[in-house]
Amino acid sequence: MRTRKGRTRQGRRGLVLAAVLLFTISAIWHSWSDPLTVPVLAGPARLKGTTVVIDAGHGGEDGGAVSPAGTVESGVNLSIALRLNAILGLYGVNSVLLRTEDVSLHDPGAKTLHEKKASDLRNRAELVESIPDALLVSIHQNTYAGSSRYHGAQVFYTDPERSLPLAQHTQEILRQALDPENTRQASKLQRAVYLMDHITCPAILVECGFLSNPEEDALLRTSGYQTKLAAALACALLSPIPEEKT
Ligand SMILES: [Zn+2]
Repeated sequence: MRTRKGRTRQGRRGLVLAAVLLFTISAIWHSWSDPLTVPVLAGPARLKGTTVVIDAGHGGEDGGAVSPAGTVESGVNLSIALRLNAILGLYGVNSVLLRTEDVSLHDPGAKTLHEKKASDLRNRAELVESIPDALLVSIHQNTYAGSSRYHGAQVFYTDPERSLPLAQHTQEILRQALDPENTRQASKLQRAVYLMDHITCPAILVECGFLSNPEEDALLRTSGYQTKLAAALACALLSPIPEEKT
């Protein structure tokens, strides 16, 4: 059993890590901007007018994937989403969370789990579509049945024209920030994903890691690693994507 002291120490470590990561994001961002400008926590011009919509995948009765050790995907997704929202807020970027707690967004009339899940996804897509100039970041955790060896974050997209540059940029930042040996590439979704298939804005779906890999599962459960993931995603959104560099 973890002591209160242990938790406090862990919390302090989390805060220190968050501060270091924020400084890193700031340094990366300012290294790409005019060196004569005064460093301020300001988001990039390309996000002006954009609302970053953060989707913590699953929630409520639909927990998503579950690791052999019992980690439930929906909780990890939400922890990362809340952190990403907080970091973007520090930079003055407009952002909204599709859910802020462990709930499903289904209509009250939905009865079965299947109906609830279908209704939840329809509502998420409608919410995203109702927001002008939205940019969707959908956060999930991966799993691979039958093998624990696969690991590493991967970014997916559906429409290359709208989303490929951001997907590739995010993949690269995740690689640099989390695991330089991660050779995964940003990929077009090869399966139907309701939310990604029913929206018209730029969108990426980030599988942050594999719950089926015990080491990665253990990392994904820690607040420090969740903060690191959120900071890397924020960095991808805040920094210029290569095509936009001049
Ligand atoms: Zn998922």
